Amino acid sequence: MVKNQSDMKLGTKLIHAGVSPDPSTGAIMTPIFQTSTYVQAAPGDHKGYEYARTQNPTRDALQNALAAIENGTHGICFGSGMAAIDAIVKLLKPGDEVVATNDLYGGTYRIFTKVFQPLGIHFRFIDMSDAATIEQHLTSQTRMIWIETPTNPLLKIIDIAACAKIAAKHKALLAIDNTFASPYLQNPIDLGADIVLHSATKYLGGHSDVVHGAIIVKDEALAQQLYFLQNSCGAVPGPQDCFLVLRGIKTLHVRMQRHCENGAAIAHFLRNHPKVDKVYWPGFTDHPNHKIAAKQMRGFGGMISFTLKNDSMEAANQVLSNTHLFSLAESLGGVESLIGHPASMTHASIPREERIKNGLADSLIRLSVGIEDVDDLIEDLNKAIG
Ligand SMILES: *Cc1c(COP(=O)(O)O)cnc(C)c1O
Repeated sequence: MVKNQSDMKLGTKLIHAGVSPDPSTGAIMTPIFQTSTYVQAAPGDHKGYEYARTQNPTRDALQNALAAIENGTHGICFGSGMAAIDAIVKLLKPGDEVVATNDLYGGTYRIFTKVFQPLGIHFRFIDMSDAATIEQHLTSQTRMIWIETPTNPLLKIIDIAACAKIAAKHKALLAIDNTFASPYLQNPIDLGADIVLHSATKYLGGHSDVVHGAIIVKDEALAQQLYFLQNSCGAVPGPQDCFLVLRGIKTLHVRMQRHCENGAAIAHFLRNHPKVDKVYWPGFTDHPNHKIAAKQMRGFGGMISFTLKNDSMEAANQVLSNTHLFSLAESLGGVESLIGHPASMTHASIPREERIKNGLADSLIRLSVGIEDVDDLIEDLNKAIG
């Protein structure tokens, strides 16, 4: 007997949820339905598919799989993580207020302040490391609390369950960007979140070969509003991209297990290196919110940031230009290791003074630890740090 999806454990859901053999051929893999429209037998007499912006079977399979692996009821897919974020903010109206984490993905900060602020939606950016201080920033206009945890690039941890309580009390929606953790490490809906979003470009896709975004919710009315926005605004993903994300998530659990193991080994290596100053990784027992991380996450992931004792752009550049396995690039979450420099790459648009004040030192280096053999990765970093 086929198991009910909600009875499956995560590793089984990642492979089986949402997908079934193609009824016309038996193909075990969901076909890429590369079509723009569907033939009707008579006006209005169709098989549930009318036009491909509105419905596509490859996208449906992925949406159902995503809903299952995040323990929601509905998945809604978009052409990028930013398009998913765009749809979520469009649930609001002028005058509404969003209280957001201050250590946010740069593109999220940009769409909030440069696109939606001029349209009359207000944003407050606050440090949420201590959940007890969040409530004082909410007003009668607050309609949404927006969280990323772990944050980028300082790997701060925010207490999702505590935020869910505050959001519920104020009748605000709690939206969580779960890109860094992935559904393998954390399921925000189980902790009370209303909306989970992913840049599937990162860990869900997992192979640095697709740009894609997804939203998962558990409320029917909210899902219908988001499907309406998906269809009305039209930032839909193509079927090939949906196929690649579907294929990516089948190995999420084995990849994440290795990302976590390699991440732990590299975090400890860095901490013991004489030229390294601070190491940011939520798995350290002395990380300020380690207890919350251990409570709400199943592991600590492969994202690590560190600074050098010689805190200068030059010293950072020396490391960044001397790794061979860690490729210098933006993005994260692929099987291959990446190295980046927030001060000159992802956070270059923030004035230096502001950047330093927020803890982004000149020598801060961010790693997306891949799933290569960890001995080779450590040797690569050791040679580059010198
Ligand atoms: C990359 C990223 C996004 C944006 O996603 P795209 O797929 O690049 O549009 C949003 N949030 C986080 C945390 C990200 O890392």
